[in-house]
Amino acid sequence: MPFTLRGNDACQATLPTSISKPYWVAFSPSVARLLNLKLGSNGLPSNPDWLEVLAGNQLKADEIEFVEPIASVYSGHQFGVWAGQLGDGRAILLGDMNGLELQLKGAGKTPYSRMGDGRAVLRSSIREFLCSEAMHALGIPTSRALAVVGSKQTVLRETMETAAVCARVAPSFIRIGHFEHFASLQSNARLKELADLMLAYFYPECSADQDPYLSLFKAISARNAKLTAQWQSVGFCHGVLNSDNISALGLTIDYGPFGFLDSFEIDHICNHSDHGGRYAYHRQPQIMHWNMACLASAMLPLLELNHSDEESQALLRSALEEFPLNYAREWLHLFRSKLGLQIEQEGDVQLIKRLLQAMHDSRVDFTSFFRGLGNIKKDSLLTDLLQRNEFVDRENIDQWFNDYLNRLQLEALSDQSRKEMMNRINPKFILRNYLAQTAIEKAQQDDFSEVERLLQILSNPFDEQKDFESYSQPPPVDMQHIAVSCSS
Ligand code: AMP
Ligand code: MG
Repeated sequence: MPFTLRGNDACQATLPTSISKPYWVAFSPSVARLLNLKLGSNGLPSNPDWLEVLAGNQLKADEIEFVEPIASVYSGHQFGVWAGQLGDGRAILLGDMNGLELQLKGAGKTPYSRMGDGRAVLRSSIREFLCSEAMHALGIPTSRALAVVGSKQTVLRETMETAAVCARVAPSFIRIGHFEHFASLQSNARLKELADLMLAYFYPECSADQDPYLSLFKAISARNAKLTAQWQSVGFCHGVLNSDNISALGLTIDYGPFGFLDSFEIDHICNHSDHGGRYAYHRQPQIMHWNMACLASAMLPLLELNHSDEESQALLRSALEEFPLNYAREWLHLFRSKLGLQIEQEGDVQLIKRLLQAMHDSRVDFTSFFRGLGNIKKDSLLTDLLQRNEFVDRENIDQWFNDYLNRLQLEALSDQSRKEMMNRINPKFILRNYLAQTAIEKAQQDDFSEVERLLQILSNPFDEQKDFESYSQPPPVDMQHIAVSCSS
C-alpha cells in the first residue's frame, strides 16, 4: 500500500471491531465501479461477504483480502490551538483497491481513540455518505463514500443512538496534520519520506522542479485555494476546518457538522459548537490560508535541506502569499460563471459583491436564486423579473438588476446558450439540511428509501429532474434552523 507511511511511528496495525447483525443503509454503485466491485441486479455487491467486510466483521471477500488494516497517526491545530497528537481515532484503513484507499469510519477503537469509542452514529454516517456523493456530482474534489452499513448496536452520544459504519474512499487520506505530526516530533527523515511520497504519487509535476518541496507546498496550497473557492460557490460550509481535517490532496474530507447555505447569510455558522464563528462561511478562505501557514511551518525543515534558514522562511512566506491571489482568481472565475459572464470586465467584482450583500440583507435563498438567474434574457424588462420580489430594498436591487442587464449586453452568448452554461454551474439540487434530516429520520425507522432517492437526485444536481421539483425548494419554515451537533 503506497499511499500512507508505514512503520509504527506512522501507523499501527488495527483490526476493525465487529458489529452485530449488519445491514445495508446506503450504497453507491458508482463508487463500487471505481473499485471494480461486482454488483448484482439490485445494485449491491453480488457477494454478500462485502456487507461483512464493510461492517468491519471480516477482511476477505471475492479474491480480495485486506492483510494489514491500519490506523495512522497525525497531529493538528483544532480551533486555532495546537492540539498535539490526534490520529485516526475511528477510521481504519482496510487497504487499497484499484489504486484507491478504502477506509472504514466508525469500525471501533484504534490506538488513537483517546477517550472516544471509535464508533459513528447512523445520522452522521448518512450525512457523510450523501454529502460526499453530492459534492462529487457538483464537481468538487472530495473523498467518496461507498456505503453505510447499519446495526442495532447502540452507542451513547447526547442520547442513545445506533451505530453505523461509513466506508469511504480516496486516493489518499493524508492531511496537513500528518506533516505537522512529524514536524512537531522533529522527525525530519519521516517528514521527507511523506513529502517524497506525495511528490511521487500525487504531485509528479513538482518532482522535476528545481525546488520540489517548495513546489509541493505551492501545489497543495493552490489546490486548497481552488477547493475553498468551489465551496463558496455552492454555499458549502465545512464546519470544522482544523488542520487535521484538511487534505494534502485538496479534497473535501472529514464531513462533520457541515451545512449548505439555504438563505444567504455571509456569516452563517453551521457547527453549533463553533461559538466564536471561526469556521463561518465568510471566514473559510482566511482559515484555509491559516491552515496553509501551518503546512508551511511544518515543511520548513524540508526547505532547509537546500537553503539557509532565512532563505527557506522567505521562500515559504512568499509562496504562502500566493494563496489569497489563487483563491481570489478562482472565486472570481466561479462567480462570473454563476452570473453567466464569460468576458472579464473590471467592475465584475463589485457587481458580484453588491449582489451578495443584497442577498445577505434580504436572506435570499442562495441556490435557487442563482439557478433562477439563468432565466433572465438580455432584453428582459425590470418589471418582468420575479426575483426582485425576494429583496426587501427594492430600489437597491432594481439598480443592481439594471446594471446586470447592461453588463449582459457585452456578452456574446445567446440567452439560451448562456442559460445552459449557467445551469451547468448553478446546481438545482444541493444537500439541504432539511432533506438530509428527513432521510435520517426515516432511516432511524428502518426506511432507507429516502437516502436512496437523495443519492439519485444529488447525483445529477444540474439536471431539471421535474419529478423531484420539491427537492429543490428552500426549507419549510419549521425546518430552517436545524442545528448540527459535533458529537457524531
Ligand atoms: P473530527 O473533529 O471528527 O475530525 O475528530 C477529531 C479527532 O477526534 C480525530 O482524531 C478523530 O479520529 C477523533 N474522534 C472523533 N470521534 C471519535 C470517536 N467517537 N472515537 C474515537 N475518536 C474519535
Ligand atoms: Mg477529522
